[in-house]
Amino acid sequence: MTTQTKEPSISSLSAEQEFNPWEAQAARFDLAAQKLKLDPGIWKVLRYPNREIIVHIPVLMDNGTIEVFTGFRVQHSIARGPAKGGIRYSPEVSLDEVRALASWMTWKCAVVNIPFGGAKGGIICDPKKLSQTELEKITRRYTAELIEFIGPEKDVPAPDMNTNEQTMAWIMDTYSMHMRQTVTAVVTGKPLNIGGSRGRREATGRGLMIVCNEAVRKLGMQPESTRVIVQGFGNVGSNAAKLMADVGYKIIGIGEYDGGLYNKSGIDVDALIVHRQRNGTITGFKGAEPAGTSELLVTDCDILIPAAIENVITSRNADKIKARIIAEGANGPTTAVADDILADKNIFVIPDILANAGGVTASYFEWVQDRQGFFWKESVVNEQLEDILKESFDEVVRYSETHNVNNRIAAYMLAVDRVQFTIRQRGIYA
Ligand code: GLU
Repeated sequence: MTTQTKEPSISSLSAEQEFNPWEAQAARFDLAAQKLKLDPGIWKVLRYPNREIIVHIPVLMDNGTIEVFTGFRVQHSIARGPAKGGIRYSPEVSLDEVRALASWMTWKCAVVNIPFGGAKGGIICDPKKLSQTELEKITRRYTAELIEFIGPEKDVPAPDMNTNEQTMAWIMDTYSMHMRQTVTAVVTGKPLNIGGSRGRREATGRGLMIVCNEAVRKLGMQPESTRVIVQGFGNVGSNAAKLMADVGYKIIGIGEYDGGLYNKSGIDVDALIVHRQRNGTITGFKGAEPAGTSELLVTDCDILIPAAIENVITSRNADKIKARIIAEGANGPTTAVADDILADKNIFVIPDILANAGGVTASYFEWVQDRQGFFWKESVVNEQLEDILKESFDEVVRYSETHNVNNRIAAYMLAVDRVQFTIRQRGIYA
């Protein structure tokens, strides 16, 4: 029986700490380290990032003025391989957020046992207010500032919030111009014709479907009678909703930042994708009733997939959540304090570092293909992805049962243990 055990020490986080992603990450890491009886020295090594880079990027804007943007790249660990992780563009980006996301990448890559460390980047900007030319200039200058810190064997960026295949193409091109040769393996999540991998775009959503299938089977449920609510209809949320609808799940609610939709008989996700392409928003879709995004989080359903931003399941709403399963498509959607409340309610949580690991797993395949110059069929990518995620799901659930901890702490323990083992094996260079 998997019981989501209550972990009392996390409840001591203050209200301000609850909403700081770095504190949220550190609280779970400390608990996992304590339970693992981690060596105090290794504890210190892993508690803080290896390297934090801050750049202030001057950009000549379309109107002729010069603007300066602040960007970050944090490399948390390179113990298990090159640093790996996305780059996000948002006005909300902060160093603490990027630090947390970089550590989550270390744990995520270790949970799925792929040979990468963890990193994350971000630029404080509002992509909605920038032209394509401005975005391109920001991206290229950011890449140029980081030129000696990234590379196929050093640190491999990928898309994240508000960045996409085009952003990766610009990074790849800028890096290649500086190296005087085409280096496709410097980033993943690229367009197909310049070294991208088949299946990468859908991989995070596909991974969510795979772990949901496993959870549903474990809890004796059937996809056809499972009602799903998805928060976020970006790359992760829309692909998860589409793939899950295709295999029979009933997607009854979809929430976006500008409004949500609800239809108890199920939303036609393909039609919604077309509507969004035409109108730039999911609102106004005829096949569902309008619904508030925060209400959708606490609406009756079987699986809740927060696939947008951090801190949406918190001490303020966790006790009202009615889902039986939470599959975290976003990074850090649940605060550490909310973990305890969900545990008390016996909700089966598939933590972010497992649930959304499909993206980086397919990124690993892309990096392998780029380095080999040999590209796989989509079915091969999808099969390998399924194997890795099923195995990781089993490992986390088994760990949780053996050590009597909740799935999140089990995933952290598994990851921290893998990373600490590597550090000890490599030794400390002096
Ligand atoms: N940004 C994605 C994540 O948070 C993908 C990272 C990658 O593919 O390197 O997992």
